[in-house]
Amino acid sequence: MKDQYGRIIDYMRISITDKCNLRCRYCMPEGVEIIPMSHLLTFEEIVKVCTAAAELGVRKLKVTGGEPLVRRGAPALFGMLREIHGIEDVTLTTNGVLLKKYLPALMDNGLRSVNISLDTMDRTLYEKITGQDAFLQVMESIETAVDAGLQVKINTVLLEGVNDNGWEQMLLYAGEHSVDVRFIEIMPIGAGSTFTGVSNQTLLARIRERYPDLTEDLSVHGNGPASYYSIPGFAGGVGFISAMHGKFCDHCNRIRMSAQGEIKPCLCYGTSVDLRQALRGSDPDGEENRMIRENKTIGNAGRLTGKSLSIENNSDRKNELKSLLARAIWDKPQAHCFERRDAITEDKKMVSIGG
Ligand code: SAM
Ligand code: SF4
Repeated sequence: MKDQYGRIIDYMRISITDKCNLRCRYCMPEGVEIIPMSHLLTFEEIVKVCTAAAELGVRKLKVTGGEPLVRRGAPALFGMLREIHGIEDVTLTTNGVLLKKYLPALMDNGLRSVNISLDTMDRTLYEKITGQDAFLQVMESIETAVDAGLQVKINTVLLEGVNDNGWEQMLLYAGEHSVDVRFIEIMPIGAGSTFTGVSNQTLLARIRERYPDLTEDLSVHGNGPASYYSIPGFAGGVGFISAMHGKFCDHCNRIRMSAQGEIKPCLCYGTSVDLRQALRGSDPDGEENRMIRENKTIGNAGRLTGKSLSIENNSDRKNELKSLLARAIWDKPQAHCFERRDAITEDKKMVSIGG
């Protein structure tokens, strides 16, 4: 469906956990509070939301987190999401640490394309940024995914004084492998606001100086706002996601859902629409849902079976879900306000929003 500014919203990013096996300093520094397990949407609930979203015109889903692959059973969720009528594409954003391990199961469940976050090619610096010596594991995952024929994009956030000198090493990986390397400008959200990023305009100028034959590539590489360039002789492309210095709000096509079922129309604002309540009614911890799934009798004196209650609730709740989603889409703000720090109302960490 379209929002009030006429933008078609056909893409939803779904966070399935706020937990992570890394501690990237700009995303999830030590000490971030984790939401209780009972507040996470179950896979069945995620499927219900995505089914309602598909009925409103969402066609592409991205599974993210936290680190999505730390959630038990994550590969099976891909299969469930791909079966939803109207959904054309389900992709994954991961830090890559567990990707090699789960790749066969993910591919069995239909995964064809993956974004892997990697901010440096230097193992020591990797550990400084992420808190874990997992660089070699990530590189193995990338190679395994490329060899398996997946479309692979590497996402890199450059931070001034941390890894900004490493852009060429990142780029050279796309020189030798058939992957796109994309530079994402850091947004002043959560811990990200304590770092200074690198403007993609500045970076593009540096890359052009070094590779004067760089040309813009207008072919479609994915679902998002990245602009792409090719360098003669390079196996992969170079992409730029420039939320700060190349504001793309005019053609933003996305909404986000947090792991606890909050729909966020824009990263910049704290405003969200709570779907967990619509999914669980007066039972916010999902006890009733669990009982329904187990087909247990609930309610007064066993007169309602789990089955009949679930049918009754399903149609009411589905309509409510759809109208809440439609409201979140319609009310999507016209543009972010990252350039005016005092106007930003989002105070959560990126890891709990779902990047
Ligand atoms: N754990 C997965 C991963 O790292 O790909 C998925 C979640 S992570 C939040 C998704 C992406 O958000 C990562 O590429 C990360 O670098 C990026 N990210 C985190 N905080 C950010 C910020 N403040 N600005 C821009 N990107 C950010
Ligand atoms: Fe974890 Fe991804 Fe955030 Fe790093 S960027 S802390 S890997 S969620």
